[in-house]
Parts: sequence; C-alpha cells; structure tokens
Amino acid sequence: GDVLKKRKIAVLGSRSVGKSSLVIQFIENHFVESYYPTIENTFTKSINYNGVEYDCDIIDTAGQDEYTILNQKHAIGIHGYVLVYSVTSRKSFEMIQIVYDKIINFCGINSIPCVIVGSKTDLQPSRSRQVAPDEGKELAQLNHAAWVETSAKTNTNVAKVFQLCLGEIEKRSPNSKAE
Ligand code: GDP
Repeated sequence: GDVLKKRKIAVLGSRSVGKSSLVIQFIENHFVESYYPTIENTFTKSINYNGVEYDCDIIDTAGQDEYTILNQKHAIGIHGYVLVYSVTSRKSFEMIQIVYDKIINFCGINSIPCVIVGSKTDLQPSRSRQVAPDEGKELAQLNHAAWVETSAKTNTNVAKVFQLCLGEIEKRSPNSKAE
C-alpha cells in the first residue's frame, strides 16, 4: 500500500488575529471564545486532498511582530505556510509581508507555498473592517500565494485554508513522494 505522505504546515501572523481559533476550529470543530495565548502547539490531522490522504502536522505559533526573529523551526522542514491577518486590523495585514519576507530571506528562495488568510469576517457588519478583500487578493498575487477570508467563529472557509495550502504545496512539487 501507499506510504502516508507527511506535510508540515506552519501558521504565522500577528498576535490575536485568530490563529489558534482557526486551527482549533479545524481540528476540533468548535470555536474557543477566549483561549490562552499560545506558546506553540503542534496538531496532527489526516487531510484528504484530491483523493490523497496527507498526514499533516499543523504548527500553531505564538505570533510574530516586526521585531521577532524568525524561529528556524518555522523555516526548516516546513512544506507550507498559513499567514493570518484579521480583516479588522490593518496592522496585522501589514505584518504579513514582513513575516513573508523573513521566511524567504531565511530560506534563501524567492517564494514559498503559502495561503494568506483574512480572519474574523463575522465582525465586519459592525463596520470594523480595516482591510478590503481586494487588498488581500492583491497582496496574495504579489507573493504568488493563495488567499481566502475566514471566520473561525462561524466556521466559514476554515477547511478551505488547509485545502488551499496543500494545493500550493503540491503544485510546486507535483512528483514529490512520501518522505
Ligand atoms: P492568536 O493569538 O492569533 O492565536 O488568536 P486567538 O485564536 O487566540 O484569538 C484571539 C481573539 O480573537 C480571541 O478572543 C478569539 O475568540 C477571537 N477570534 C478568533 N477568531 C475569531 C473569529 O473568526 N471571529 C471572531 N468574532 N473572533 C475571533
């Protein structure tokens, strides 16, 4: 039989944009209203993408800012990235390019398999949106990344994040075998 394909996905972005909520909604199918600030957690889940089962490690990081030095754990052996901003925080959106550039500089390559995620869309009816969908799309295009808006609270597009991420990983290594 086939060997399970292992994939490592790291979730990065500013603090409190909803990284843990996204990952926990995906893994455990519930929304956590208040969660202890994450130091770092790794979750494992088997994800079916295009009829193939991938044994995925999902690393939920503590969060980054402009002064954070990229942890080499978040660059070495990582197959794909989920970079999260909140649609209600312009600062968190601006942090995406900073984190992206830190990763590519560390890895010495010019692009990485990546999904840029605009979180907390359920909050936008209260006029708290600070980042338009078109801005998210444009940033993703510039960085050859996928893009999606989500709500961990209403479980909107949460599973899609990880489908898109596996898509980005596989399209760059279509013949990769299980390792
Ligand atoms: P992290 O620091 O990026 O891991 O952020 P958390 O997952 O801990 O979330 C920070 C805060 O935002 C918490 O109070 C969450 O309940 C809240 N939050 C996270 N995702 C959503 C969402 O999709 N909608 C709403 N309304 N709140 C969210």
